[in-house]
Amino acid sequence: MFDYLIVGSGLYGATIARELTDSGKSVLVIDKRPNIAGNVYTKPVEGINVHIYGAHIFHTNNKEVWDYVNQFATFNRFTNSPVANYKGELYSLPFNMYTFNKMWGVVTPEEAAARIAEQKTAAGITSPANLEEQAISLVGTDIYEKLIKGYTQKQWGRPCDQLPAFIIKRLPVRLTFDNNYFNALYQGIPIGGYTKMVERILDGIEVKLNTDYFTNRDYWNSVAEKVIYTGPIDAYFNYSLGNLEYRSVRFETEVLDKPNFQGNAAVNYTDAETPWTRIIEHKWFEFGKDENGNDLPKTVISREYSSEWKPGDEPYYPVNDEKNSTLYRQYKALAEKEDKVIFGGRLGEYKYYDMDQVISEALSLSGKLK
Ligand code: FAD
Ligand code: UDP
Repeated sequence: MFDYLIVGSGLYGATIARELTDSGKSVLVIDKRPNIAGNVYTKPVEGINVHIYGAHIFHTNNKEVWDYVNQFATFNRFTNSPVANYKGELYSLPFNMYTFNKMWGVVTPEEAAARIAEQKTAAGITSPANLEEQAISLVGTDIYEKLIKGYTQKQWGRPCDQLPAFIIKRLPVRLTFDNNYFNALYQGIPIGGYTKMVERILDGIEVKLNTDYFTNRDYWNSVAEKVIYTGPIDAYFNYSLGNLEYRSVRFETEVLDKPNFQGNAAVNYTDAETPWTRIIEHKWFEFGKDENGNDLPKTVISREYSSEWKPGDEPYYPVNDEKNSTLYRQYKALAEKEDKVIFGGRLGEYKYYDMDQVISEALSLSGKLK
């Protein structure tokens, strides 16, 4: 008999498992996948750590979380600076003076601010009610049309005026020449890959892989006093109130016989016609290595295709629009009535959490449980 059964070995489950173990509790972790680490799982291919479930860049302003992860990994000094490719025109991201200069030929911050204000006024937006209006009021119609509209509709499979405004607020808008995608004090990639970091977090803790909680729920409930469940909340309740919507992603990964495919870790294809949203070239996450292709003659790239989740797919992104948020609240009310089970993580809470937020939430819950 364990004190806790933890369903899921992603960053949320692993952090809780570490903290509870260190406070003297007995813990068993199960995961239905053949590997630990959930969506941050990386695997070496041709000497390159490939981000199997999508590119992950650790970034945070939370010093407690940064200090926490640094106990388990050394982080390199990678800074995310994706490039947008709109029909062959290249633009810097996030939206900053390099972007504005390329788009409009403006040179000073005043000129850029005036151009944005002019386009916002022409669009007649006073209080933005959805992603489209929010985007235009932040960066104007030209940037919205070329760098946001097509990408967002591919990513979310919904028109921009039916998506919540907060999604676009994830991206900084700057009147400075700064291509750093994140406004974060701390940023980097764990040297050696995320899997190694999660292995260290889980060091000495029993983990059973290829083990789906639902195939024998009664048995798994009987092995522990409490269960911490980090899978999708609607799956836990057998989709009894209907299924929450998720976006899924299909990754097409290729090894190329050349040292350098695109010269950057991430290139976003922001037009509506290109079927993929972005191409990741994994070796460029490993900062300071191989700039001239001398160390590794090959490269690994992944094209990302976004799709609506259907049973059997991996649920990657919660769709936090009004309809789904309402349904989630109904599931949450059911979850609160469960005595034995605590729900957490990106899927358990149906929240668009970044890695640092997931760790912060896990530390907060384990603090309460201790
Ligand atoms: P997960 O990693 O999803 O772990 C849940 C685990 O539970 C999985 O291993 C799953 O197999 C297991 N599980 C589910 N159901 C069952 C079951 N029935 N039985 C047993 N096991 C089960 N965040 C950032 O900070 N920076 C980024 O650059 C970034 N990029 C991202 C890119 C993509 C494509 C995606 C999808 C997310 C990205 N994120 C990023 C977010 C990040 O992935 C999450 O915040 C974090 O990984 C969530 O951890 P988690 O433990 O909550 O969930
Ligand atoms: N986005 C965009 N164009 C881009 C990059 C992002 O329009 O080139 C929008 C898109 O709606 C996306 C959101 O900004 O969903 C947030 O981007 P982010 O890179 O944070 O998404 P994630 O890392 O979660 O995939």
